[in-house]
Amino acid sequence: MGQFPITRTTTPKQKPADDALAFGKVLTDHMFLMEYNEGKGWHSPRIVPYGPLSLDPATSVLHYGQAIFDGLKAFRSEDGRIRLFRADRHAERFNRSAKIMCMPELPVDIIRQSFDALVGLEHDWVPRKPGTALYIRPTIIATDVMLGVHPAHSYLYFLILSPVGTYYKEGVKPVRILASDSHVRAVKGGTGEAKTAANYAASLAGQRDAEAAGYTQVLYLDGVQRKYLDEVGTMNIMVRIGDEVITPPLAGTILDGVTRNSALQLMRDWGLTVSERPITIDEVMQAGRDGTLREMWGTGTAAVVSPVGTLGYKGEDITINGGQTGELTQKLYDTITGIQYGRSNDPHGWTSLVPVERG
Ligand SMILES: *Cc1c(COP(=O)(O)O)cnc(C)c1O
Repeated sequence: MGQFPITRTTTPKQKPADDALAFGKVLTDHMFLMEYNEGKGWHSPRIVPYGPLSLDPATSVLHYGQAIFDGLKAFRSEDGRIRLFRADRHAERFNRSAKIMCMPELPVDIIRQSFDALVGLEHDWVPRKPGTALYIRPTIIATDVMLGVHPAHSYLYFLILSPVGTYYKEGVKPVRILASDSHVRAVKGGTGEAKTAANYAASLAGQRDAEAAGYTQVLYLDGVQRKYLDEVGTMNIMVRIGDEVITPPLAGTILDGVTRNSALQLMRDWGLTVSERPITIDEVMQAGRDGTLREMWGTGTAAVVSPVGTLGYKGEDITINGGQTGELTQKLYDTITGIQYGRSNDPHGWTSLVPVERG
């Protein structure tokens, strides 16, 4: 496909100060669009000024939620260069989500080129302050206009960008999480392995109830026995009990997190014992009571790691590591962000430089 046609905005926005950035509130000046039609395949890739989409009220995605997305970040290093973190893996996962949701896959190199082309054009939008980044949100929605329930025959791929602030303004900070015995996120045979809109709609009530009970996030248990750890909010979960780090296996309900995969790789590099195995909430609570639960944290692109200071379950609260960020959690955070911002070497070749057009 090569170079994409670009229509530049004539009304560039005022960029917010790096200190004023939140998450996802400001979008950049341009977006990438591309359509799919059955028989024709993906076509008409282009970059245009950022703006509203016009959709018929009968467009299928608005009714039945056939939609997928992904999320990754571009980081500016001290020398001004811009890096993406594991963009290929995000592109591959985007396609896995597409497959699960009966949507047409995109060639991985087209996805990658769309990231590079849009971030390259919007390079001035990558903030400079340490800890900030440009969030990259690729999305596909079903665009058939008709009210029947079936996989659509037409789709829209769009890519938008948003400068985001430091997740931790005062250092990595532990959260309070609630293991829910009333809400579940996904079941085997469902859509838990896809980054699809419906999963997030389904998580809102659990999140609301956890907040009402004084917690920050929900720890979801498996949907059948309500026994095994699944995920925490929109992050993967890891626990360190004695000399073992445990995370639930990718067995049909869990999203294959890029941060999860990176953390597992690093811990194996460091010679730690790492198990991807089912782990029950009872095992975690018992370890919390007998003092062998050393650390617990979530992993995801937004926070990198999110330490758990307090775990609540059936009316009992367990404090982990005195409510402080654990040593391994902090090491993972420092190592991953070091690679992302180009401060440390990148032994696995996880980052790629974004070619920047100097205008
Ligand atoms: C996005 C997401 C994650 C984390 O994935 P990363 O690739 O590490 O950002 C974990 N669980 C759910 C449900 C998610 O949506």
